[in-house]
Amino acid sequence: MHLKSLTLKGFKSFAKPTTFVLEPGVTAIVGPNGSGKSNVVDGLAWVMGEQGAKSLRGGKMEDVIFAGTATRGPLGRAEVQLTIDNADGALPIDYSEVSIRRTLFRSGQSEYAINGETCRLLDVQELLSDSGLGREMHVIVGQGRLDTVLRATPEERRGFIEEAAGILKHRRRKEKTVRKLDAMEQNLARLSDLAGEVR
Ligand code: ATP
Repeated sequence: MHLKSLTLKGFKSFAKPTTFVLEPGVTAIVGPNGSGKSNVVDGLAWVMGEQGAKSLRGGKMEDVIFAGTATRGPLGRAEVQLTIDNADGALPIDYSEVSIRRTLFRSGQSEYAINGETCRLLDVQELLSDSGLGREMHVIVGQGRLDTVLRATPEERRGFIEEAAGILKHRRRKEKTVRKLDAMEQNLARLSDLAGEVR
């Protein structure tokens, strides 16, 4: 799985539709201060379902909509589309390419779509949750968060990596299963006691 492209329309400083084509491997976005590099990363977090305006460096969610400049008026909606190559089936959906779109209107109305079909935020979150992508997955480390990661204890850092790699979820499932097995063993012991009494 890899991210193929990201299109921003009316999102933050990107008034005109702008598409970033991402080839497999490392992509670097360079530009002068204030040219919108972090806005691209904000767009990525946003389309994957980010709900916190502060995480997107704004006061309220509406701040992601292009607010206008001296030469261009404000826009009425922000739209971001992310296209993911799913040839390896990493996302639990029967398509080799998956596009996720999120739109927000100034009225506050918000829309999500997967491969052009309108869906709920929950559907986007569920689609991404097994892949290690998505909200709270620590895959996006912003400028401010770098300090937190660098200052973290080795245990905390391991937690970040495990969460990003999707291991934490399996650890929780394992703990739950071990608890069930323990309960089952107790039931079996009780059963054999009872069988002994009946004999
Ligand atoms: P640096 O290198 O300093 O971190 P950067 O390239 O990451 O900068 P960003 O922080 O992504 O730059 O972009 C900041 C610019 O985006 C500012 O000029 C700001 O006015 C503009 N901007 C942010 N939100 C909006 C919006 N809703 N409408 C219009 N412009 C916006």
